[in-house]
Amino acid sequence: MSKIDWITQELEGLKSQGLYNRIRTIGSPQGAWLIVDGKRVLNFCSNNYLGLANHPVLVKAAKKAIDEMGVGPAAVRSIAGTTTLHVELEKRLAAFKGVEAAITFQSGFNANVATIPALVGKEDVIFSDRLNHASIIDGCRLSGAKIIAYEHCDVDSLESAIRENLSQYRRAIIITDGVFSMDGDVAPLDKIYEVARKYDILLMVDDAHGEGVLGKGGRGIVDHFNLHGKVDVEVGTLSKAFGVVGGVVAGNAVIIEWLRQRGRPFLFSSAVTAPDAAACIAAIDLLESSTELVDKLWENARYFKAEMKKLGFDTGVSTTPITPIMLGEAPLAQQFSRELFEAGVFAMAIGYPTVPQGKARIRVMISAAHSKEDLDRGLEAFAGVGRKLGVLR
Ligand SMILES: *Cc1c(COP(=O)(O)O)cnc(C)c1O
Repeated sequence: MSKIDWITQELEGLKSQGLYNRIRTIGSPQGAWLIVDGKRVLNFCSNNYLGLANHPVLVKAAKKAIDEMGVGPAAVRSIAGTTTLHVELEKRLAAFKGVEAAITFQSGFNANVATIPALVGKEDVIFSDRLNHASIIDGCRLSGAKIIAYEHCDVDSLESAIRENLSQYRRAIIITDGVFSMDGDVAPLDKIYEVARKYDILLMVDDAHGEGVLGKGGRGIVDHFNLHGKVDVEVGTLSKAFGVVGGVVAGNAVIIEWLRQRGRPFLFSSAVTAPDAAACIAAIDLLESSTELVDKLWENARYFKAEMKKLGFDTGVSTTPITPIMLGEAPLAQQFSRELFEAGVFAMAIGYPTVPQGKARIRVMISAAHSKEDLDRGLEAFAGVGRKLGVLR
């Protein structure tokens, strides 16, 4: 017996339950079509909502930044790794989102892991939506605070958890995803804000899937609900609609200043590179100059969802471009995904533990990069596989 036999057994277990993640290799830039494991397929997997990941304006900005600043930051932000581009990006993000200040991180994951432990500790309590993203959960655990999960998007459940527990703790924070990435539903942030205000509790939203998608010209969930100045902490990512990489925390200037002093991934891990920062600035330029890409994203999403429903698929509760196709058991979802791939469509099967048991699905990620012909190709493939596997009659 070797000391890693248990891992081999666990891996075998995942494979037999249809839960083993076979990771595909991409051999092309991101876009409506991809070369995946050597095959050209229609891309329904990426978070590249606006098609910015290979946009010529961003690519040009990144190249210019490489010529002027090189490729590596060579130190953490707090020592010698804060370039003029990082500072400019933070100013531009704050202005774009209409907040006092913003700080960037290496990723959205790190933004959560930095922010939560900086704001709450052992004597405090976190009220967390039951379906919050893994990076929120990890940030909560790292903080050492008491974590109380309330029912998903349920403001009554949140309020009764607060009433029962608040008095036993020093400080409290409510944390919710903005758009939930597996179901595509949106947190009732206006109602959550009312509760936060009533009990005078900090409010934090992780808008990773709402940044560049929701609100005026993609300004995010706070803009969508017209809650400017009312949400204390807005976390976002620059890796989804923004098309690059990085995380951001936007909001109250005092909180942002505190994160520069106490956000551990900011202090102890190097930042995104100068070309990343320059490409993000170019993305903001594009978003501020026109709503065309955001409009196209929503037009595509509405069309695709309506046509999928007409075909007879269950697209769940999504109100955003995230389109889950509910299938039930994980092996069926995996087989569906494999058949789609054979038909030239790359769409991911998602099963437990990412979603609950029995709620396996294919998740289709719609993008402004898709043309109507692309979407029609996808619909045709879904119809064919759906009939073949008996999902559609
Ligand atoms: C994707 C996502 C993240 C992580 O963002 P990265 O920049 O890829 O690390 C964090 N939170 C939520 C809600 C997400 O959907």
